[in-house]
Amino acid sequence: MSDMNFDIAIIGGGPGGYVAAIRAAQLGFNTVCIEKRGALGGTCLNVGCIPSKALLHSSHLYDEANGHLEEHGIGIKGLSLDLSAMLARKDKVVDDLTKGIEFLFKKNKVTYIKGAASLLGGGKIAVEGSDEVSAKHIILATGSEVTPLPGIEIDEKRIVSSTGALELKEVPKELVVIGGGVIGLELGSVWSRLGANVTVVEFLDRIIPGTDSEIAKTFQRSLKKQGLKFKLSTKVTAAKTKGKKVNLTVESVKKGTSEEMSADAVLVAIGRRPYVEGLGLDAAGVELTERGQIKISEGYKTTAAGVYAIGDVVEGPMLAHKAEEEGVVLVELLAGQKPHLNYGLIPGIIYTNPEVATVGQTEDELKEAGVDYRVGKFPMQANSRARTSGATDGMVKIIADAKTDRVLGCHIIASDAGALIHEAIAVMEFGGSAEDIARTCHGHPTSSEAVKEAALAVDGRPIHI
Ligand code: FAD
Ligand code: NAD
Repeated sequence: MSDMNFDIAIIGGGPGGYVAAIRAAQLGFNTVCIEKRGALGGTCLNVGCIPSKALLHSSHLYDEANGHLEEHGIGIKGLSLDLSAMLARKDKVVDDLTKGIEFLFKKNKVTYIKGAASLLGGGKIAVEGSDEVSAKHIILATGSEVTPLPGIEIDEKRIVSSTGALELKEVPKELVVIGGGVIGLELGSVWSRLGANVTVVEFLDRIIPGTDSEIAKTFQRSLKKQGLKFKLSTKVTAAKTKGKKVNLTVESVKKGTSEEMSADAVLVAIGRRPYVEGLGLDAAGVELTERGQIKISEGYKTTAAGVYAIGDVVEGPMLAHKAEEEGVVLVELLAGQKPHLNYGLIPGIIYTNPEVATVGQTEDELKEAGVDYRVGKFPMQANSRARTSGATDGMVKIIADAKTDRVLGCHIIASDAGALIHEAIAVMEFGGSAEDIARTCHGHPTSSEAVKEAALAVDGRPIHI
């Protein structure tokens, strides 16, 4: 390769890295992105957001066809599941999208180097199989990896992480999911819809910790109705593969009693941790926090001059859109602009059916902080559009400041909660009130009307309930 001096070198081609690279090139920086995976898009496109959503959609279609269409007068005879075709479709979606990023790199004149990068200090980077790269600014966007469960060996065949759970060769009869968080519930739903008996073992006494507890309870009820079983306040103390089975020992956190379980597959989904292996942080003087994240100060600066870090590898929610926004903000700062990211308004969305979408503060947090607030709720059961499509599970919950009516949080369970939440985010971003939402004309019949009704309910004047 010819000139390997760049304005900006980005290590990692995930949502944080590749978006930063495109925005940097738009701003006129001579930019290189170094990625070792062999494909762009990072965890999100290759083994995360995209393949999981492809399988969530396919499995939803199968589930609908499998007994949920009769009420519409649609009968299906001889329904079958071709799992390998379903998995191949998912792989094609991933492949098309990762190639799409390569196209965007070419379009924006971002240099793409395939290989593992490590810092050498002094603005220099060694790249496996390539010439040394030097850059004025270096951005670390190396993402995260699965958190292992001590004593339980992930073989990605029977005891799998999310990566293995995206390509099980057959539907397990019994699937045990360790961890009632986002991954456990999304991928647990996929395999449950395809026919697995799914048991979620969660250490805490609730699922999706951190989410509004009323929403979490409603969500758990909905998943139970769909057939998922839950063992809360329970931990897995051992899991050993024997032939085609995995034998597990689980222990009640409160009582200390233990019980044996058997499964055809086990999904370990207890979280993710920052990934910095082989990155040469010491050589460059980049320090980590106690939690293993790259330590950053204002402007995403690491402890080494000219080196920055964004995305899953730093503090904050491990979400693709958070990583993307940080990438944009960082390179705009480097260009002398004054961008801003509101960390209080990063949405969290779980793409099950119904979906769960939340933004801002939960009722639990407001109670704890002693804030005087008002709550407006509207059940999807009373929304006419939800009735027409039979998507009546869930509710919209809006929390507003009791004095100013400013919206402080919005928490939704609905089939399209992930789309609905963005109205609340926009209003909150502008410091708007529940009354602002209530006074906005919403199209009829739409599920968005449930957002308007919840806003009306904050003031005790919903129309349709
Ligand atoms: P990553 O996407 O992890 O990318 C980092 C990249 O850096 C990797 O490709 C890695 O190969 C590369 N790299 C690491 N070290 C080096 C090195 N030394 N040299 C070169 N390259 C290197 N988030 C959402 O917002 N919505 C979702 O629906 C969602 N679903 C998910 C589902 C699953 C199953 C999983 C596992 C995650 C999901 N996430 C979701 C989380 C999301 O994938 C991450 O938050 C996001 O990918 C983080 O982006 P990133 O750029 O920080 O890191
Ligand atoms: P998580 O943090 O969402 O959930 C992990 C769960 O496991 C928690 O409920 C925790 O209490 C439980 N747990 C921890 N240790 C346990 C143990 N020993 N036994 C039983 N339970 C235990 O983590 P995840 O579901 O693995 O997801 C990882 C990351 O990926 C999350 O940060 C999430 O933001 C991201 N992700 C996002 C999406 C999305 O946005 N739709 C989808 C998938 C993943």
